Amino acid sequence: MVPHLEALKDAKACPLWHDTDLMPDPLPALASDEKCELLIVGGGFTGLWAAIQVKERKPDAEIILIEQTFIADGASGRCGGFLSSSIAHGETNTEHQFPGEAVRLQQLGAQNMKEYLETLERYNIDAHYEHVGETDVALDPESAERLRAEYETARDEGADVVFFDREAMRAEVNSPAFYAGMWHRGGQDGVIDPARVCWGLKEVLLQLGVRIFESTRLLDLEPAGKESMRAGCEGGVIHSDKVLLATNAFPSILGQVRRSVVPVWDYQLATEPLSEEQIDKIAWPRSRHALSDYNNMFHYFRLTKDNRITWGGGASVRYYFNGGTNPSLADAPACYEQLAREFFEYFPQLEGVKFSNKWGGIIATSTRFCMVPGVAYDGRVAWSVGYTGHGVGASRFGARIGIELLGYQPSDILKLQFVTKKALPWAPEPFRWIGIRLTQSALIKADKNGGRRGLWLRFLDMMDMGFTC
Ligand SMILES: Cc1cc2nc3c(=O)[nH]c(=O)nc-3n(C[C@H](O)[C@H](O)[C@H](O)COP(=O)(O)OP(=O)(O)OC[C@H]3O[C@@H](n4cnc5c(N)ncnc54)[C@H](O)[C@@H]3O)c2cc1C
Repeated sequence: MVPHLEALKDAKACPLWHDTDLMPDPLPALASDEKCELLIVGGGFTGLWAAIQVKERKPDAEIILIEQTFIADGASGRCGGFLSSSIAHGETNTEHQFPGEAVRLQQLGAQNMKEYLETLERYNIDAHYEHVGETDVALDPESAERLRAEYETARDEGADVVFFDREAMRAEVNSPAFYAGMWHRGGQDGVIDPARVCWGLKEVLLQLGVRIFESTRLLDLEPAGKESMRAGCEGGVIHSDKVLLATNAFPSILGQVRRSVVPVWDYQLATEPLSEEQIDKIAWPRSRHALSDYNNMFHYFRLTKDNRITWGGGASVRYYFNGGTNPSLADAPACYEQLAREFFEYFPQLEGVKFSNKWGGIIATSTRFCMVPGVAYDGRVAWSVGYTGHGVGASRFGARIGIELLGYQPSDILKLQFVTKKALPWAPEPFRWIGIRLTQSALIKADKNGGRRGLWLRFLDMMDMGFTC
């Protein structure tokens, strides 16, 4: 059998982060009609952080959180765990989408990150946080030159960055695929175990008196008089003064939210823990960088506390016609095979290592490539969705916007374009599918050409449109 297929053969179809005895039993589903002040729909980072922040601002708030499956079953429990302070998907996107706000958004992102980590500490949540920054690796000489130029600009602007030429990068992480690297080591960026964050927050919420119902899907939502909302759920009806939709890439019951995001599947593999001998071959567990290709369709790869490698992204990300979100789409053999093959192109010295886990999750991509907030029903319903592959840290800030829009200590952040500027809706099918497929192919081609953008991408740039994950 071909080595990469051999390595994949016994991989368990389960997110690495879920594959642990720490996974709590799901709480009972809703089984009667209920009343509350705030209903939160969605048990991922956004929903959980929203509940925590409301409780911090108004300890006596009566909150119910419902989750259609179990806490951390969405993107939050399936992600790469790269914790970034950027709340608008990186500097370039921030400057492009919200001119004049970059500095303020950067400050807010840093503050969000500080509060994020302080909260974990305050509540004793051991999220396996590692303060390793983030490192981009160039995969060809032209990209290495572009990366060096970016490094010089960042350094001149005062950023805490380190450039590695080919040899230096390979001393940090030994891969023949690497031509250069740039380590962003400032701030508090790093990696976490995402399910540990979700389950830790869940436990805290229960202690704070939040009622949580798992296996409970929101089916419909309508006003009940002028003051409250009626949420029809599997198992009962919840009457609530306010509702926060924290459902991200999953089909929303509100058309406005549905048109804001497209669900993009992103797949990952995790290896078994590396042996001492394997560690010696790649050096990486000593530097512990959290890595991403300096590419459009980038792989992201990191180490876990027990020295496994998680490996995802690249050209195996998929948008399925009509925005498929069915869990069966996690079963994508061709995507896993592609990931496995590419893994050994980066780390041929690891031939023989086995993949223990394979899984997929859904990214909510918005046309502005960062979160989209909104309100409906005279401010009684709010949402925060669409983090576009950059939501581990940003979802805490998205949750803050969501609850402030609902009236929990609103602050001046609500005046930012980041909140007030409407996001362009995605085009309807079949144009959406055709556009995304065309763009993905063009991005893959550009990556193979040292980043040179072809006609289609230049046209999109001119029209102020694009696609990223
Ligand atoms: C494979 C993958 C890798 C990623 N890697 C990273 C990374 O390394 N760094 C980073 O910053 N970001 C990453 N992201 C993005 C990040 O994970 C998300 O932006 C973030 O988790 C979004 O959190 P959320 O709570 O808004 O959404 P989710 O975690 O998706 O939660 C939404 C929840 O709502 C529930 N729900 C939906 N509809 C209903 C309903 N009708 N009734 C009840 N419940 C409902 C869902 O079941 C789900 O649990 C990644 C995403 C994926 C998929």
